[in-house]
Amino acid sequence: ATPTALLVGTGRGAQLGILIRGPEILESTRRVQTVLLDKTGTVTTGRMRVAAVRPAPGESADEVLRIAGAAEDASEHPIGRAIAQAAQAAQAAQAAQAARVAGSPLPPVADFAGDAGLGVRGTVEGRAVLVGRERLFADLPGPLVEALAAERALGRTAVVVGWDGTARGLVSVADTVRPTAAAAVADLRRLGLHPMLLTGDSAAVARAVAAEVGIAPDDVIAEVLPEDKVATVRRLQGEGRAVAMIGDGVNDAAALAQADLGLAMGGGTDAAIEASDLTLVNADPRLAADAIRLSRATLRTIR
Ligand code: ADP
Ligand code: MG
Repeated sequence: ATPTALLVGTGRGAQLGILIRGPEILESTRRVQTVLLDKTGTVTTGRMRVAAVRPAPGESADEVLRIAGAAEDASEHPIGRAIAQAAQAAQAAQAAQAARVAGSPLPPVADFAGDAGLGVRGTVEGRAVLVGRERLFADLPGPLVEALAAERALGRTAVVVGWDGTARGLVSVADTVRPTAAAAVADLRRLGLHPMLLTGDSAAVARAVAAEVGIAPDDVIAEVLPEDKVATVRRLQGEGRAVAMIGDGVNDAAALAQADLGLAMGGGTDAAIEASDLTLVNADPRLAADAIRLSRATLRTIR
């Protein structure tokens, strides 16, 4: 490969909105066979809004949202941002009704900690609050389990809210599939590649999104922890496949680094961008196929 041709390819990529870490990346791009797409923030916009708040028996929906919002106020995760904003809006509306002076409408959170791919924890008004996946809780009341299933059947991402060791309710958030995601999947197939969906979200939600973009249920890997995303990449590589991974989150960074080709969504987290070989500038997943097409064309010119 002549350096000049590779540089031309790199320049052409920049014009298309594909930032390439170095000209040598075009070589690994060309070899890719399997493409793992992260769901939240990659196939979907990650711009979430709260769709429902459902309390466990004996709990109040307002209180579940208020405490969850306070705990999530320090979170950068799209789910956390959506919950904090909805809680702020609800509190601001109540404060306005009571003609109270505006301040920060939510109580402060202490000892905040975010667990990538799992949820958040923190202390709010002296209560030890957890918001996230059900595995954070020892047990869940039956009605809450049913409510989680009902929300997920609607394709919404539902998380559990609890404090002082008890699950108190759920908040579900609705996300939207990116307008070009289905076309991106079709483009990848046309290039002879095998697209798969990889997510920490529940299987029900993952399958609903997969169906929307044209990925078969057998090609969905759901409910994975961030470290399991890396393990998934390694397993596929162990089967002799060259793997590309497209992601946006802190939880994707290790898998992006492990992949033969890591592609970060522009506007994603710094951790994802730093771990990647390519950045898709305007967060359009169709650019993934463009990058592979470009690398094939560039290297064909050279040979
Ligand atoms: P994806 O793999 O689709 O990008 P993540 O790994 O970011 O999703 O998140 C996986 C799951 O972890 C979410 O579906 C949610 O249940 C839980 N989770 C992650 N961050 C948060 C948060 N800040 N608040 C509540 N739940 C969270
Ligand atoms: Mg993501």
